[in-house]
Amino acid sequence: MSEADCIFCRIVRGEIDAEVVHDEDDVLVFEDINSKAPVHVLVIPKEHVANLEEIGALPDTVLKRLFEVASSVAEKLGVTEGGYAIRINNGRDAGQEVFHLHLHVMGGKRLGMP
Ligand code: 5GP
Ligand code: ZN
Repeated sequence: MSEADCIFCRIVRGEIDAEVVHDEDDVLVFEDINSKAPVHVLVIPKEHVANLEEIGALPDTVLKRLFEVASSVAEKLGVTEGGYAIRINNGRDAGQEVFHLHLHVMGGKRLGMP
């Protein structure tokens, strides 16, 4: 899928609305439209990278920043003490639906695997 059609690139460009909870130079965080936990946000690089196989295209600083932002947003949303899960669905068998790399940050209830 091209960046023109990618749903998350369209959210980055402001062409599709999202409940944004954090916005900075290279990273955006917004509510998952179909949340599966009391806290369920998606942390994405603004640059289009489809999956982990393309992660080499992201600057190291942005990769690190994804996790720093996930942690600070978890704090902001009140789930640091209780804990939270970070999940990347990578590819078909993991159920990846949107081919723009994203971290699911989920908390606010007891989370199991998978
Ligand atoms: P995955 O690709 O890891 O399976 O998950 C994609 C996630 O993106 C899903 O949890 C889905 O609910 C969410 N999602 C899909 N389309 C949209 C959208 O247009 N807006 C928002 N906020 N979330 C979306
Ligand atoms: Zn994209």
